[in-house]
Amino acid sequence: MARLCLILFGSPGSGKGTQAKLLKESLGIAHISTGDMLRERVASGDEIGRSVASLMQAGELVPDETVNRLVEERIEQPDCANGFILDGYPRTVQQAKLLAELLVLRPIRTVVIHLVVDYNVIIARISGRRQCQACGALYGVTSNAPKNPGVCDKDGTSLGIRDDDREEVVRERLKAYEQQTAPVLAYFKKSGIPCWNVEAADVAPQVIAQEIEGLIRKERGEAA
Ligand code: ADP
Repeated sequence: MARLCLILFGSPGSGKGTQAKLLKESLGIAHISTGDMLRERVASGDEIGRSVASLMQAGELVPDETVNRLVEERIEQPDCANGFILDGYPRTVQQAKLLAELLVLRPIRTVVIHLVVDYNVIIARISGRRQCQACGALYGVTSNAPKNPGVCDKDGTSLGIRDDDREEVVRERLKAYEQQTAPVLAYFKKSGIPCWNVEAADVAPQVIAQEIEGLIRKERGEAA
């Protein structure tokens, strides 16, 4: 069976990270989050991290060459042998073009899942999001709330607001999405890549993940 490149597409707060974690387990493929990779670089303080920290804090996209290089290296890792989920990449048409060049050399099946969530739901989700200061786990206020308010279920560390989840930064991230990322969907469609819309508001994450698995089985020509 050909390797799978599953592109999770959607605005900030549409649930790409949550779906990627669920699908990584059920599909047995790697989860590649450019946001997480960049945050790790910022935390480690290496050259890349230092060069992108202020852009990320402002809610702007980091340069295409930087993320392209990270992804190009990452998909060569052994855990990507069966395939991978791209979460937060490609985010510009230039990134999508580089990805197309990388994938054309490989026997791989690409599927785009567009997580569709209403703008007001996005704002409510992001403003209620809290993150563990130690392990990075994300929690919501209504869904996926921690067992004890304000404390991480995994390690008991207190929760805080992710740096770029502050309201004025969220507005910048949504602007970057509308201006630079939304056009990528039209590019995928024009390139003939199968794109599926999945309603991702007011539905439990597990139910959404099952719907996505069903679409992937269909794409692979397997019985549902
Ligand atoms: P979200 O999707 O909720 O905005 P992410 O964790 O995916 O959060 O990304 C956080 C930040 O990392 C973005 O605002 C941006 O600065 C940077 N980033 C992540 N992926 C990319 C990418 N593919 N291209 C450019 N910048 C990126």
